[in-house]
Amino acid sequence: MQSFSQRLIAWQRLHGRHGLPWQNASAYHVWLSEIMLQQTRVATVIPYYQRFIASFPDVSALAAASEEQVLALWSGLGYYARGRNLRCAAQIIAERHAGEFPRAFEHLIELPGIGRSTAAAVCALAFHERRAILDGNVKRVLARYCGIKGWAGEKKVEEKFWQQAEALLPQHDVAIYTQALMDMGATVCTRSKPKCVLCPVQADCVALQTERTAELPTPRPKKAVPERSAVFLLLMHGSDILLEKRPGSGIWGGLWSLPQFDDEEAAQHWFAQSGMDARSGERLNTFTHTFTHFKLLITPLKVQLARKPLRVEQAGRIWMDAGEALGAAIPTPVRMILIKSVRPEPVEG
Ligand code: SF4
Repeated sequence: MQSFSQRLIAWQRLHGRHGLPWQNASAYHVWLSEIMLQQTRVATVIPYYQRFIASFPDVSALAAASEEQVLALWSGLGYYARGRNLRCAAQIIAERHAGEFPRAFEHLIELPGIGRSTAAAVCALAFHERRAILDGNVKRVLARYCGIKGWAGEKKVEEKFWQQAEALLPQHDVAIYTQALMDMGATVCTRSKPKCVLCPVQADCVALQTERTAELPTPRPKKAVPERSAVFLLLMHGSDILLEKRPGSGIWGGLWSLPQFDDEEAAQHWFAQSGMDARSGERLNTFTHTFTHFKLLITPLKVQLARKPLRVEQAGRIWMDAGEALGAAIPTPVRMILIKSVRPEPVEG
C-alpha cells in the first residue's frame, strides 16, 4: 500500500480544491489567507480576501494602511485581533525586512498573530519547505486516521499530534500534501458524517476500522459558558447614529460600536446626564452574541433625539449616517441592530 502522504497527494491532484484565489500565489497572499481562514470557512473568506487584496495588493500597502482601513475591510469576519496583528506584522516586515516577505520560519514565527502552524503553512505552501502544519482540520484528520485520543488543547496531546504530523510528512511535494490535508479535513473528513467511502486513506484509518469516527477527535471538556448582559444605546437623529470607538485591546478592539452599558439603569443615568432630549424611545428585542468564552445578551435601546446635541464631537465619538456606518469597522451585532432597526425618520429642529 502507498504511504499516507502518497495517497493524499494523488487524491489532491484529482479531487482537491484548485483555483482558490490564494493558491500558487506569493507568501503574502498565503499568509493573508491562512490568517483569514482561522476559525472561518473558505466560502466566507473569499470575498473578504478579494476586497483586502484589492485594497492592499502587497505587504507595503498593508503596512501603510491605517488601523481604521484594515478593520473596515475585516468588519464581519470576527476575531478582530487577527486584522490588527496583520497590519502590525506588515509594519514589522516593512521595517525589519525592507518590505520583503521573510522566508525563514524563525522570522515568520516572531511576527504577531503567526503561530507554529501558520508559519509552517506559509513555508510549505509558498516556499515548498518541508514543514508540518496542525490546524483544526488537520487535527481532525490525524485524530481519526492515527486514532489519537484526548483533547488537542492539552499540551501532552498536542505534542502527540505534532509528532504524527511530522512523521507523516513526505520528502517531496510538500505544498500539494499540505493543501491535501486541508482539503481532506474540509471536504471529506468533515466534523460530522465524514465521507469515509470517498477517503483515500480509508483502508488503514484507525477511527474507521474501530468505528470511532464519531468519537474522534476528542472534544474540549464541556464547561458551562458564562452569560453576560449588555445594553446598547442606539442614539439617532434622523438617520445619523452616535458611534463610540472601542479601546484598542479587548473585545472588538478599535472598532466603532454603540455606547454600551451593564444595564438599562446605567444607560438611562448616562442619557439623563448627557443633556440630550429624547423624541421617542423603544426597547428592541434582546439577542445573544456568542464569543469563544462567553455569551453576551444584548438589549438595544433605540432613542430618536429631538435635536442633535451641541456638544457632539468628543474624542472617540462621532455621528455617522447609518448607511455609512454599515460600511465602517463595526462589530457584527451592531451591524445586525442597524440592519434590523434603522429606518430613517424625518429630522426636526
Ligand atoms: Fe476521516 Fe473517514 Fe478518512 Fe478516516 S476514513 S480519515 S474518518 S474520512
